[in-house]
Amino acid sequence: MRIRLHDLNFVPMIPEEEIKRRTSEMGKELFNRLGDKNPLFIVILNGAFMFAADLVRAYSAPCEMAFVTLSSYSGTSSTGMVTTTLELNTNIAGRHIVIVEDIVDTGRTLHAFLQTLNNQQPASVTLTAFLRKPEAQVFPIQVDLTGFDIENKFVAGYGLDYDQLGRNLPGVWVLESQS
Ligand code: 5GP
Repeated sequence: MRIRLHDLNFVPMIPEEEIKRRTSEMGKELFNRLGDKNPLFIVILNGAFMFAADLVRAYSAPCEMAFVTLSSYSGTSSTGMVTTTLELNTNIAGRHIVIVEDIVDTGRTLHAFLQTLNNQQPASVTLTAFLRKPEAQVFPIQVDLTGFDIENKFVAGYGLDYDQLGRNLPGVWVLESQS
């Protein structure tokens, strides 16, 4: 089985059922850690929208959500620059923050964002990522809760795009020539 997005072919990597099971488990794990502390989930757009939707539905206590757009990717590789296209206008001092990221690759995006966040003195910061590419990580960040560790290959689906296509796919797909 394969699908085509623009000029590239992708093959299945993580099926929808496995994602559902894991994201529900992660939401419950966050609830175990943060319970009734009314955490603020900060969702890194665009890629994390689907992950965030599943995660918060498994969080069985009141919580709030905020959204920021950060990006260092163009096509299938990192540009090396992190752009913040939306300012976070929620006051986070003294709040328990859960950062919701789609995928940690080099770690550059989150490393930069964490510095901005920590300057505003939150009570705690929990970093959660749907995917992580341990071999690609360069910047020293600690992900507290990871959905799946994957190889250093380009993936799309479940919110992640290849030049805007593929975000609606319910599973994760990997670039065929690299698989
Ligand atoms: P980092 O700053 O950690 O190098 O890159 C993180 C960002 O790059 C992610 O939020 C995501 O937008 C993008 N990214 C990294 N790897 C992939 C990938 O395999 N597929 C897609 N679609 N985006 C990726």
